[in-house]
Amino acid sequence: MLRQYELVERVLEYDPDADEAALNRAYVYTVQKHGSQKRASGDPYFSHPVEVAGLMTDLQLDQETIITALLHDTVEDTLATIDDIEVNFGPEVARLVDGVTKLSKIEAMPENERAAENLRKFLLAMSEDIRVLLVKLADRLHNMRTLHFIKKPEKRQRIARETMDIYAPLAERVGMYEYMREMQALAFEQLEPEAYATITDRLEKLRGADSGEVDAIALKIKQALAEAGLSVEVTGREKHPYSIWTKMSERHVSFEQVTDIMAFRVITDNVADCYAAMGVLHTTWQFLPGKFKDYISTPKNNGYRSLHTSLMYENSMRVEVQVRTREMHHRNEFGLAAHWAYKQQDRPDGQVGWLRDLIEIVDASHDAEELLEHTRLAIYQDRIFAFTPKGALFQLPKGATAVDFAFAVHSDLGLATVGAKINGRHMPLRTQLSNGDVVEIIKGGEAEPQLSWLGFVVTGKARAAIRRAVRLKERDEVAEIGAKLFDEIVVRVPAKIGKRAIKEAIKRLDMDEPEDLMFAIGAGKITDREVMEALVPGCTAEFSEDEDWARHDRQISIRGLTPGVGFELAECCHPVPGDRIVGLRRKGERVIVHTIDCLQLADGVDSDWLDLNWDKRSHGALGRFAVTIYDRPGTLAEMAGVFAQNKINVTNLRQTHLDLPFATYEIDAEVNDLAHLSRILSALRASDAVAQADRI
Ligand code: MN
Repeated sequence: MLRQYELVERVLEYDPDADEAALNRAYVYTVQKHGSQKRASGDPYFSHPVEVAGLMTDLQLDQETIITALLHDTVEDTLATIDDIEVNFGPEVARLVDGVTKLSKIEAMPENERAAENLRKFLLAMSEDIRVLLVKLADRLHNMRTLHFIKKPEKRQRIARETMDIYAPLAERVGMYEYMREMQALAFEQLEPEAYATITDRLEKLRGADSGEVDAIALKIKQALAEAGLSVEVTGREKHPYSIWTKMSERHVSFEQVTDIMAFRVITDNVADCYAAMGVLHTTWQFLPGKFKDYISTPKNNGYRSLHTSLMYENSMRVEVQVRTREMHHRNEFGLAAHWAYKQQDRPDGQVGWLRDLIEIVDASHDAEELLEHTRLAIYQDRIFAFTPKGALFQLPKGATAVDFAFAVHSDLGLATVGAKINGRHMPLRTQLSNGDVVEIIKGGEAEPQLSWLGFVVTGKARAAIRRAVRLKERDEVAEIGAKLFDEIVVRVPAKIGKRAIKEAIKRLDMDEPEDLMFAIGAGKITDREVMEALVPGCTAEFSEDEDWARHDRQISIRGLTPGVGFELAECCHPVPGDRIVGLRRKGERVIVHTIDCLQLADGVDSDWLDLNWDKRSHGALGRFAVTIYDRPGTLAEMAGVFAQNKINVTNLRQTHLDLPFATYEIDAEVNDLAHLSRILSALRASDAVAQADRI
C-alpha cells in the first residue's frame, strides 16, 4: 500500500502547486473514518481508497480528484457526511464525492445487452464531471484486482459479470483502454475459469524453454531501428488470455490458428519517426499484406492514433507491432483522462470545467461521427434515465412523462396505461420524470389512449402510437354508425342480403373489407342509393317517387314563389319544413330560402324579401346539429344509434372541438321536418352519451 508521504510526493511531482496540507488531511480523514474496517483480503479498509488515489496519480489528475479518490467510500460506508466533507475539503470535492457515491448506489444487474447499454449510458449521464467517472472506474479496477480475496463464488461472479458488461465498455467509451483491458482480463478469469486455465496452460507450453522470447524479439526490433538511426522504446507482451479467447471465439478458430500471440509497441519521439520506423520494420521482416493500418493520418472515431502492422518473425511466427509517439500512446491508453490531465497543466483560471474541455475536443474533431463520439457525454445531459420496478433502465429525452416511459417499455403497455406510480407514489400521468425515477405503470383492462396525452408526451414513439390508436378508435366508432345505417338500407333492398351479397357489393364498390363499407356509410362518403345499387344492381331504378325510397328523398315545395323560379335552401341556416322562412331574391338569381332568424338575412337588404311558406307535403331537408358527447369508447356509436332509431340518414359527421372529457361533433342529417328535427334533438338530449345537443 502507498504510504501517505509517497502519495503526496507523487502528486507534487507533476503538480508542484498542489495543496500538500489538504492531501495529508484527506489521507488522515479516510484512515480515521474507515477505522478498523477490513477488506476481504484482511487489509485495513483504507488501503482501498489509498490505492484508488494511487491509480489517479498515474493519470496525473488534479488534487481534487486525488482527494475524492481518498474519500470516495467514506459517505457510503462510514459515518461521514457530504456536509462534513464540504466543511473540511470545500464544495468541489464534496460535489465529486457525492457524484461517486451516487454512482455506487446503482447496482442493477443487466438482464440483457440492451439493459447493459442503458446502464452504461446512465452511469455516463450521472457522471456530470468526467473525474467522477474516472474515480469510479479506478475504484472498480482496484476491486477487480483484489476480487480473488472474496470468498463467495456467486459474489465474485456477479462483480466480474458487471465489470465485463458495464465497466469495461464504459472505460472503452471514454478511451481508457488500459483500464478496459485489465478489467476484461480479470473478469475473464472469473467468468470463464476453464477457458482461462486452458489458454494459460497452452501459452506456458508454447513458451517452453525459451521464456525470454518476448524480450529477445523486442531487443531485435530495437536494434534494427537503432541501426537506422532511430532512437525508440520497444515493449513487448504476450497477449492476454482474454484477447486470445476473444479471437478464437470471434473467428471460430483453434488456439493453434491464433498465431499472433505476441504484440510489440514502438514508442517514438515524433510522427516522422513513426513512419520511418515502419519503413525499417517492413524492409527487415516480411510483413503481412492487408495488415498495415495508418491510424495516424486517419485516426479512429474515438481519437485513437497509431500505426499497426503484422510481421513474420523468422518465417514462422506472426507478431503484431504498433508504432506511435509518446503523446499518442498516453492519449490512446487513457483517453479523456489523458486529455484532462494535459489541459490541467495550463489552465489559466484554475477552473477549467469538464464541459469546456469537451467543447475543445469537439472543436478539434474532424468528422461528424467523431464529434458524436466525443459529445456523447454532453448529449446525455439532455436525457433522463428511469427504471422499471424490476430495474430495467430506459433512456428518455428530458421532459418525458410517465406516458412516454410506458410507451418506451412497450407500445401495448403505453396503450393500456391508466395510472402511474413514481418512486412508489401515485402521480399524474403528465408528471415529468427525473433521473433515476422508478416508474410503475398501472394497466387498465382495455386500451384507452387519450387524445389529451398528445398535449404532454414528448417522445415520437408515444405520439405516433397515441395518434394511431385514437384514429383507429374513431374509425371503429364511425364504422359502428355505418353498420347501424347499413341495417336500415338492407331492408329497403328488394332481395334478401346475405354475406355473399355483401361481399359482392364490396367488390363492386372497389373496397377491401366490410369495415371499409361501414366506415364509408358512417362517414357519409357514400349515399344510400349507391349502397343499394351495389347490393342489387339496378334495384333503385324501379323505385318510383311515391314509394318507400321517396321518404328519404327531398320533396320540397314552397308556396309564395313565382312558378318556374328556382330556389335553394340556404347553407347557413339549413331550413327544414316547419321552420318560418323567408326568401331572398336578387335579380336574375335563384331564390335563397333562409329561416326567419338567420343572421345572414342582415346581408340581404339589397334583395327582394319574399314571404314564403312550406307546402304541406314538403319533407326531407338537411338539418345541422352540434352535439357534445362524453369522449368515451362507445359514446359516438350510441349517438349514432339515436339517429338510426329515428330513421335519420347521417350524411356528414366531423369533430369540431375537443375539450376533454367532451368532444363536439357537427352532424348533417336528413330530417323530414321541424317536428322530426325537434324529436331527434329531444332524443339526443335524453341519451346518456350526450352532454348537449343543439341545432345549428
Ligand atoms: Mn470503493
